[in-house]
Amino acid sequence: MAAASAIIRIEKITREYVMGEHVVAALKAVELVINAGDFLAITGASGSGKSTLLHLIGCLDVPTSGSYTLSGRDVSGISDEELSAIRAGKIGFVFQSYNLVPQLSVLDNVLLPLRYSRQSRAEGIERAHSSIDRVGLSDRITHRPAQLSGGEMQRVAIARALINDPLIILADEPTGNLDRTNSDEIMSIFEQLHTDGRTIVIATHNMSIAELCSRVVRLEDGAVVEDNLNAGSRS
Ligand code: ADP
Ligand code: MG
Repeated sequence: MAAASAIIRIEKITREYVMGEHVVAALKAVELVINAGDFLAITGASGSGKSTLLHLIGCLDVPTSGSYTLSGRDVSGISDEELSAIRAGKIGFVFQSYNLVPQLSVLDNVLLPLRYSRQSRAEGIERAHSSIDRVGLSDRITHRPAQLSGGEMQRVAIARALINDPLIILADEPTGNLDRTNSDEIMSIFEQLHTDGRTIVIATHNMSIAELCSRVVRLEDGAVVEDNLNAGSRS
């Protein structure tokens, strides 16, 4: 078996929030390696630190201490501008509440991450069409978010996350606002993307979602207490 290649290496990461006189230790000495092609669930009770960890992985936040290496580069101490450049180029983010811009069409929402890229608009539009096609929404391109169902809005958010061909896709409780049918549909899109070789990390408190992933990391009170391959899943 070929050695899996690590794209993310987190070593002894802590994240503390200072709240007046109190310090909340949201992450405590977390060690985590994410390999190319991983389909990983970060699970744990509410407040266990899932979102905090996902935000650090996604360069939306920086650790209080410890080191974070993303595709060979130590990003734990870099500037905000460098961090946003990395985010724009390497990370695709999907949020529980979709975070679409209500005034924009599906097409323009998906094009948003390309605002600062050097691609021509024509090239961008071509890529947006292929991402939208990937999530099965080609017949909704001119719709606005309010004209879509929750599941469709989340599919738009996934298309938007794909447009930069990211190194990794991060999703924070992506099915949290969805009913069972839409939730299944979103998870089957993630499963297909995984089959295509994408690296995907999903934060969820829902074990039936976590069981669909091929690896499960469980947090308890800011610490990793379990890191298992899921026997039942296709990997
Ligand atoms: P989860 O996503 O697993 O529910 P979070 O990562 O959101 O957990 O939160 C972990 C801990 O950090 C919780 O105790 C939470 O209250 C605290 N926390 C999260 N964000 C902040 C913040 N911005 N300021 C202060 N405390 C925070
Ligand atoms: Mg959370």
